[in-house]
Amino acid sequence: MPLLDPVFPTEAALPACARDLLAALYPTVRWDRVSFHAALPPWLLRFTDIAITLPDPLTLRHIRIFVAKEKWDPRSMAWLGTLVHESFHVLQYQETLGGIGLGPLRIFPVKYLGAALLMGEGGAKKNRYEKPAYEHEELFLKSAKGLSICGEGGGLDRAALAELLRRNPGLVKRTTRG
Ligand SMILES: [Zn+2]
Repeated sequence: MPLLDPVFPTEAALPACARDLLAALYPTVRWDRVSFHAALPPWLLRFTDIAITLPDPLTLRHIRIFVAKEKWDPRSMAWLGTLVHESFHVLQYQETLGGIGLGPLRIFPVKYLGAALLMGEGGAKKNRYEKPAYEHEELFLKSAKGLSICGEGGGLDRAALAELLRRNPGLVKRTTRG
């Protein structure tokens, strides 16, 4: 979206391991409509210092995950946990906005984005959108203990993924409803 380039940090390439892990945990998400950014836009810093997920204000079909520069560490489990958390929001957005373009919404996006900004991390664990995202992140981190999900060379360790899902099949989320 060239128009918005100045306000959004450049897109970051997601390492194959994280991409494949997220695709396995969220098989119904349209990943072709999601981009990752290894920095928070300065105008979002008052909402979060960790990460935030927002639909593109012009299209609402494209969703951006922003992770703070200092938290973007592909070798850390905390980073994977953050991505699992933010991807839960992607599922929430895609369910809510599924098939809806900007046209029919018109006035709604402003209100919607206002609510979305409240989804920044920190101090919002009781928020009804945040609670399940935190729970899923925590479940992932607990279930992944001792597993090296990302193998040598940055690829997903399929055996570790299988063990993760054996420990906790509920980590695979096709819908946020149940
Ligand atoms: Zn969140």
